[in-house]
Amino acid sequence: MLFENLDIIEPIKKALKDEGYKKPTPIQEKSIPKLLTGKDFVGCAQTGTGKTAAFAIPLLQKISIDKAQSKNKREIRAVILAPTRELAIQIEENFTAYSKYMDIKNLVIFGGVSQNPQTKALKEGIDVLIATPGRMIDLYNQKFINLKSVKYFVLDEADSMLDMGMIHDVKRIIKCLPKVRQNIFFSATMPKEISNLVDSICDNPLRVEV
Ligand code: AMP
Repeated sequence: MLFENLDIIEPIKKALKDEGYKKPTPIQEKSIPKLLTGKDFVGCAQTGTGKTAAFAIPLLQKISIDKAQSKNKREIRAVILAPTRELAIQIEENFTAYSKYMDIKNLVIFGGVSQNPQTKALKEGIDVLIATPGRMIDLYNQKFINLKSVKYFVLDEADSMLDMGMIHDVKRIIKCLPKVRQNIFFSATMPKEISNLVDSICDNPLRVEV
């Protein structure tokens, strides 16, 4: 299987070539077609499997189509939550690499640093927000984050979030999102609390395991 067989738009294929990716990893091969359908999705995969690209590629593709249909307006269309700043930064780096030939702005926000550069970037306008839950709630409460146009929500390493006591914050964020959206979960394991959360917010999700 090649990226050619996955119906990926040209600017993304070009960026993947620049990254030196020759073919999709198993999680990408299985997930990309499912995520492009727009249905809710649960993926069981560890770090190192290429899981970030497995959701970044279809999301960037869908966002570019959505944007073309709404005069390329810059508004937050996707929210990706990650448990640690290191993971959030890596996700942002991947989104930025894969969208280099597209007019998409990605921003990563996390705690423990000044909020000023983050709020400045939010005011200038972004398309994709990657965040750790605490800082996201903080900036949302201060009205720096407008979630009304969010169509895609990703919870990455959901089981680590549970272990780190972030599930309450995650649930608070979910309550602030528009009701009609695509929900995407990635988790290495599926503890009961995570499968309960999936059941409470997902509509008959498609599932992939590697
Ligand atoms: P992840 O599991 O998302 O943390 O990805 C692990 C590493 O694999 C990252 O350094 C990616 O840049 C790289 N990667 C992701 N997809 C591919 C691919 N299809 N071919 C080669 N490397 C990849």
